[in-house]
Amino acid sequence: MPVTTHAPAIKTPGNYLNDVMTLVKAKNPAEPEFHQAVQEVFDSLRLVLDRHPEYISAKILERIVEPERVLMFRVPWFDDQGNVQVNRGFRIEMNSAIGPYKGGLRFHSSVNLGILKFLAFEQVFKNSLTTLPMGGGKGGSDFDPKGKTDNEVMRFCQSFMTELCRHIGPDTDVPAGDIGVGGREIGFLFGQYKRIRNEFTGVLTGKGLTWGGSLIRPEATGYGCVYFAKEMLKTRKESFDGKTCLVSGSGNVSQYTIEKLLDLGAKPVTVSDSDGVIYDPDGIDREKLAWVMELKNVKRGRIREYADQYKKAIFMPTDVKLGYNPLWNIKADCAFPSATQNEINAKDATNLINNGIKVVAEGANMPSTLEATKLFLEAKVLYGPAKAANAGGVATSGLEMSQNSARLSWTREEVDDRLHKIMIAIHKTCFETAETYGTPGNLVNGANIGGFLKVANAMLDQGLV
Ligand code: NDP
Repeated sequence: MPVTTHAPAIKTPGNYLNDVMTLVKAKNPAEPEFHQAVQEVFDSLRLVLDRHPEYISAKILERIVEPERVLMFRVPWFDDQGNVQVNRGFRIEMNSAIGPYKGGLRFHSSVNLGILKFLAFEQVFKNSLTTLPMGGGKGGSDFDPKGKTDNEVMRFCQSFMTELCRHIGPDTDVPAGDIGVGGREIGFLFGQYKRIRNEFTGVLTGKGLTWGGSLIRPEATGYGCVYFAKEMLKTRKESFDGKTCLVSGSGNVSQYTIEKLLDLGAKPVTVSDSDGVIYDPDGIDREKLAWVMELKNVKRGRIREYADQYKKAIFMPTDVKLGYNPLWNIKADCAFPSATQNEINAKDATNLINNGIKVVAEGANMPSTLEATKLFLEAKVLYGPAKAANAGGVATSGLEMSQNSARLSWTREEVDDRLHKIMIAIHKTCFETAETYGTPGNLVNGANIGGFLKVANAMLDQGLV
């Protein structure tokens, strides 16, 4: 009997993307941040699928939105009063087509599966853009280190790593820091990994300098974001000299964004935390930045104290009823959102545009809503999306992994030079890809498509896994 074969029906790119998006929402209910991150990438991929129907028939998109592995576990620990506390731990191993899973750990009370899936998804494309061989992952816990003692943080980190250590390794999955996970937490996590596995390997990045860390890693995300913005300004023959800059947050990314802006002659005027915004019309100079670093990294204080120390500065407490963030309503040339996701909504974007903003470079992950992004692109603002602009952090983590494998340490100048070159290369990829796909200047399309192609082709090469 003759065998009849039915070729699978090939859908139009638009239909295919809509169908996969519907599937993503159905399979991942109540995860709006994940839906948002996928939607933004899919909007750009409309331009790719016309030219590459093979991605449709190989169901690359259905596969790329599905994590390779999701780990979720209990993290019990004792607080200082001897009470039992229980948190939830996660690791999303999203995609390993081009290298071991790589991405940060976030400790914050808002952490949930959907937020970590959005971060892991973004990480896949970001890591691809760095030119280094790293897959994408993300993890963390709803544990909030704020207000906890060092001993409590240590006990939590040890319990968290006791479970996580079975799933990670220098050639498998290499976590790093993110919100709430800085040098202190990485130290406690590394110590426990080493103790249980009895091996001293590059299983985490962001380590201390005397035990395998890389120079410039703490600075890398902020420095890299400013290097990226410098490239964007160059396309309009402008520089940072004398430019007023808005920076949100006051953590790792914000601090080193401000430091590099000062190096390049700009005038940063804001910092913030979840309690409110500081506006210093005189500018945040090196002495004030050192004070902020001491406040946040050593004393673990609140940013409102800045206004007590520097009398000309104004503190504006957070007011959710306002519907917009007053930080983004201050007249400036450049904006560096460096706190958290969706911190710029449509109203904030409109305020920035009406005040003549020239550059928005995203240090935080997905700090702009889809509506805000659209407004920036329509207004022809130089807009550097997070997965390109903040890729300097993970790129330097990649450099830390290389140094660990080779058991050597590069100088500060060497790492900074490599970081700078990587950021120039990422900008070039985004800029040229945006042109190739018919949307010159649209670095959102450039970053999404540039990051996607490498991963998608590796997935095709490796078969159905
Ligand atoms: P930190 O924990 O060092 O600092 C975070 C800062 O953002 C703090 O000032 C914090 O204030 C503020 N913040 C956090 N959540 C909120 C919120 N809901 N509302 C207002 N302010 C908030 O984190 P990082 O600087 O490392 O990370 C900042 C952003 O950069 C994140 O989006 C992260 O994913 C991204 N990123 C970080 C990289 C890195 O290398 N560290 C790499 C790439 C991206 P408070 O203390 O009050 O919570």
